[in-house]
Amino acid sequence: MQKAQKTYHIWTIGCQMNKAESERLAGFFEQAGYNHSSDLDEIDLIVLNSCVVRQSAESRVTNKIHSLRHLKKERPELTIAVTGCYVDSDIESLKKKHPHVNHFFKPGEYPYWLEQPGWEKTLHGSTGPATYVPITQGCNNFCSYCIVPYRRGRERSRPVDDIVNEVIELVNHSTREITLLGQNVDSYGQDLPGKPDLAELLKELNSIDGLLRLRFLTNHPKDMSDTLIDAISSLEKVCEQVNLPVQAGDNEILRLMRREYTVEHYRRLIERIRSKIPDIALSTDVIVGFPSESEEQFRNTFDLLADIRFDTVHVAAYSPREGTIAARDLEDNVPAIEKKRRLYMVEELQKEIAAGINAEFLGKTVEILVEGRKKGKWQGRTRSDKLVFFRDTENHLGKLVNIRIEKTSPWSLQGKTMKVNNLNGEE
Ligand code: SF4
Repeated sequence: MQKAQKTYHIWTIGCQMNKAESERLAGFFEQAGYNHSSDLDEIDLIVLNSCVVRQSAESRVTNKIHSLRHLKKERPELTIAVTGCYVDSDIESLKKKHPHVNHFFKPGEYPYWLEQPGWEKTLHGSTGPATYVPITQGCNNFCSYCIVPYRRGRERSRPVDDIVNEVIELVNHSTREITLLGQNVDSYGQDLPGKPDLAELLKELNSIDGLLRLRFLTNHPKDMSDTLIDAISSLEKVCEQVNLPVQAGDNEILRLMRREYTVEHYRRLIERIRSKIPDIALSTDVIVGFPSESEEQFRNTFDLLADIRFDTVHVAAYSPREGTIAARDLEDNVPAIEKKRRLYMVEELQKEIAAGINAEFLGKTVEILVEGRKKGKWQGRTRSDKLVFFRDTENHLGKLVNIRIEKTSPWSLQGKTMKVNNLNGEE
């Protein structure tokens, strides 16, 4: 019996960039007449959107590719495609290594073999009230521990008009909050004619009717400008939230990481941000156990985190990534058990700080955009990106709701409905 419609499935691992790209690919496949399905026995097209930022992620990708060999043997008509950071410039050797894969296409490219005209204008797949929109691909920095520039290539920015049109379409399909994505959003536009910057892009997007909130990540401390800080403080749809990865609180370690700023520069930048946007929520990324990191150098990082008191800290223990400068030139000489101890210390410190910051919300009313349901509760986020849960029998999806906070933890807030605002956020 002939199937009525072709089906696709996308398997995604990795960062928000990958998740955003998978959404866009889903939109493309749907426009090309495919339906989403998870039934592997029936599926016509499987796409693996891969990540290789860590060795463990790369192993998951190769295991998954291998595991599809049997399926391809049973059903030769199945199309298997691989995209994401696993696809580097040497596609020919990937084809030799995995002959059962039909197509390899680079991150940010589109499934060229389908030859669907007009794919550039394709909407995301099933989008919710809050979604991601990539504004750049690749990165021009070469932080010594990072594989991204080798896999994703040099930075390419999408033209302002392209992004504006996509956001308008998303808003027409009920999206209310957009997070702009790039490896380094602060260098957005430097490769475009007229060199528009992120502040200019935000200004354009801020004027789109029906859009309620704008966020962006990731910032780079060496590139974040005062113009951008001014834009965050003056544009009403831009949320009071900045992700500014510090990675280490010690100048020698920062030098070895090739981050191109000092701890003093970073602290001054945080001061400027806080003086212009007093209610800003700050998040950061930290690597502990970088090659040669002494106890004293780790303490410098720990003290910086204790001083600044970030809302969120993403901490990782260093592990060498083959193909990077650090893996080639620096000995991974901090013992695993010591890395674990440092990681634990940062996690415990941050738990205490986040518990304190969140406790201040107790008894206050916050406005959240409701993004979905989990375990019988509605969930949404404040402008400062705090995760909030509440129970209610009404359907609040995509609405702005005022919630009075009754319980807090380091990770989230809980409360009850006070008021539901209309879609444009007017009371
Ligand atoms: S800024 Fe550094 S860490 Fe971030 S993607 Fe570029 S090279 Fe990697």
